[in-house]
Amino acid sequence: MSIELPALPFEKNALEPHISTETIEYHYGKHHQAYVTKLNAAIEGTDLANKDLEYIVKNSKGGLFNNAAQVWNHNFYWQCLTPEQKVPNSILSSKLQESFGSVDAFKDAFTESALGNFGSGWTWLVQNADKSLAIVNTDDAQTPITQDQTPLLTCDVWEHAYYVDYRNARPEYVKHFWALVNWNFVESQLAA
Ligand code: FE
Repeated sequence: MSIELPALPFEKNALEPHISTETIEYHYGKHHQAYVTKLNAAIEGTDLANKDLEYIVKNSKGGLFNNAAQVWNHNFYWQCLTPEQKVPNSILSSKLQESFGSVDAFKDAFTESALGNFGSGWTWLVQNADKSLAIVNTDDAQTPITQDQTPLLTCDVWEHAYYVDYRNARPEYVKHFWALVNWNFVESQLAA
């Protein structure tokens, strides 16, 4: 059994003008695909070969972990995006309000975290084991699923996520990211 590259939940051009078809072709078609290919090569013939992706992420280190976690993180990232530009519905809104003061205050704090995430990494909204919400940054391939945190939303802040569209302007990319957030998906990840 090998790890598959999941189909995108939207057409390649569906996120324009915020994220271009060219970015999707490279980010999904080349970068994400390469993590999948390298992961499959690394687990072939090992005890991890017949395990699911989450198990592999939680039980590996070094280069194998990096590829497995990057597959998991990207699988999650694509699900966080939609061209339908929804706003958070009432359950999620009140949860964000309770935790951050308001939905806008949450977006400001998440943006500040994403812009301050040094180098390559990811910015996340997570739910802790005690059900509280938090914004966390991870470096490189690191992922909250190894920290007993449930990811609700992520923004990929590796340069490959925005260099084609915005060159080095991460703030522009994050601004456009907000037009694409799939709030229904974020809410669906909240623990009951
Ligand atoms: Fe990426």
